[in-house]
Amino acid sequence: MAFSERFLDELISKNDITEVVGSYVRLTKRSGSNLFGLCPFHSEKTPSFSVSPEKQIYHCFGCGKGGGVINFIMEIENLSFPDAVHFLARRVNLEVPDSDEDKIMRSRRERLIKLNREAAMFFHENLLRPQGRVVREYMEGRGITPVSAKSFGLGAAIDSWSALCDEMQRRGFTKDELLDAGLAAKSSKTGNVYDFFRNRFIFPLIDVRGTVVGFSGRRITDNENERKFVHSKETLLFNKSKFLFGLNLAKKTKLGRIILVEGNVDVITLRQAGFDNAVASLGTSLTEDQARLLSNYTKEVVIAYDSDGAGMAAAQRAIDHLEKLGVSIKVLHVPGNKDPDEFIRKNGAGAFAALLNGTGNHIEYRLSVIQGKYDLTQDEGRVAYLKEAAEMLAALQSRVEREVYGNRVAELLKISPEGMQVEIKRAAAKRSKELKRQQEQISRPVNTFQPKERSIRYEDPKSAAAEEGIIRLLLADPSIIRKASDFGPQDFTSEFLARVYAYITERYAENRPISIAAMSAEFSSDEISHITLMMQKPAPLANAETAMEDYIGVIKTQKLAKSEDLLEISRKLRERKGMEDKDG
Ligand code: ATP
Ligand code: MN
Repeated sequence: MAFSERFLDELISKNDITEVVGSYVRLTKRSGSNLFGLCPFHSEKTPSFSVSPEKQIYHCFGCGKGGGVINFIMEIENLSFPDAVHFLARRVNLEVPDSDEDKIMRSRRERLIKLNREAAMFFHENLLRPQGRVVREYMEGRGITPVSAKSFGLGAAIDSWSALCDEMQRRGFTKDELLDAGLAAKSSKTGNVYDFFRNRFIFPLIDVRGTVVGFSGRRITDNENERKFVHSKETLLFNKSKFLFGLNLAKKTKLGRIILVEGNVDVITLRQAGFDNAVASLGTSLTEDQARLLSNYTKEVVIAYDSDGAGMAAAQRAIDHLEKLGVSIKVLHVPGNKDPDEFIRKNGAGAFAALLNGTGNHIEYRLSVIQGKYDLTQDEGRVAYLKEAAEMLAALQSRVEREVYGNRVAELLKISPEGMQVEIKRAAAKRSKELKRQQEQISRPVNTFQPKERSIRYEDPKSAAAEEGIIRLLLADPSIIRKASDFGPQDFTSEFLARVYAYITERYAENRPISIAAMSAEFSSDEISHITLMMQKPAPLANAETAMEDYIGVIKTQKLAKSEDLLEISRKLRERKGMEDKDG
């Protein structure tokens, strides 16, 4: 999404950073020109969060976050760059101009939305047409009611190569639009366009706003040669890793929590059984984006994945993502290797409700996974279980939890609770030793110059320090850019810093403004934080030219040293080879 420079400039100048930040953080004046407050991005008792009205940037000396006004809104409101721009524009009553590109994209999106909606309706109506009879019978065979068909908008893709394409073209949609929507595919041989979903039971994929963004189709036969499920490809509207089936309905639940399942049919069956709070992740294990989406609607998730190995591994990954977002998690173990659909069909809704009420939290779940690995009738298995359980419990933050769950393990193994606690303490000591070792590893001298942001790593810290120096100079005063042609981004060892350098020099050459706020469009928030940190150190502007030469000198020397290392290595290799040749 490209906003015009003029517009961004106006937006940034109207949104003074002290005012914007000031509405989230109480800022007080201390020394110098900077304002200070308690950092909104990490918890602290003494203010280490600073705002520079002069540079129009913020920076936290505690957690390292920093940037300009757009980036601040992106971080604090959890918005994308374009959304943050709209947010700030609204704040100062500035109209966001539509670029031509925006207009074209918008109208393409609107067409796709319309096409998807009409296709969904066509599929749905097929259920009542004679050609849709086999699919309807499949649906009925699985116990899916007409009420469900209606609320989920279920449908039938009939056994035809062109039924949908023909009908949609008749209604004025083009072949290209059908292809863009993922509803049609193109034969690589003939170039003909044909229906992507054929002879399948159709689930429209509806997002939280109620827009049909794509489709899933399940095969209705037992033919193993056909894929059991096909989903829409990625389109302008659909991104599988950000979508959850059923969330459009589940978000309205009064049950207070959301049940996460693997399959679309599970969502439907659960709803029929009175659980209107289930969503499915289309088979893949929950992604970070899906976890975030879920966390917008609930603070408690019950994971009801299949109880096979793959399902358990997927549950573990889901737990990891959700835990980070502060969502409380319970894991439901559906007995007999069944999915919720099969379980409810066999045992009824009441039995499922009983399972739900009895669900333990994820600590119990982890313990049961560990337990499952060992044979507790054998001493060996009991010892191994004890060790692994102690390791897991040692990692828990809360002493109460360590005790409660430790006691449970002790009870199961018929050992004393005290004995178990000793075992947990031993595991905790081992663990903290290991953590300390890792910590030392990280802070070894070569690593001292590494950015705090984990996503940025410097291969050559010495050179990177000089590269940062150059950037710092240029950000303070781009006019000192070196005209000489024997130095450029290609000389940087850090790909990230090379990009910053290229960004500054290109903009400067084109006489375009350079601001941290505008940089949020092209750099990640980690990168922006680090650039802001770099700007905290004073730039030696008084002797800018000499400083620049010095930095370039360091970079070139490092490069030379490395190539000499290489020469040395290859010389040694040659020597050794010569010796071997003599030996042999
Ligand atoms: P059913 O009950 O109809 O057999 P299910 O939902 O129990 O279906 P699973 O095999 O457990 O089927 O798959 C769970 C989910 O994973 C499906 O709902 C579907 O979204 C996705 N999925 C399964 N198989 C495939 C496949 N071959 N390609 C793409 N997605 C798949
Ligand atoms: Mn199933």
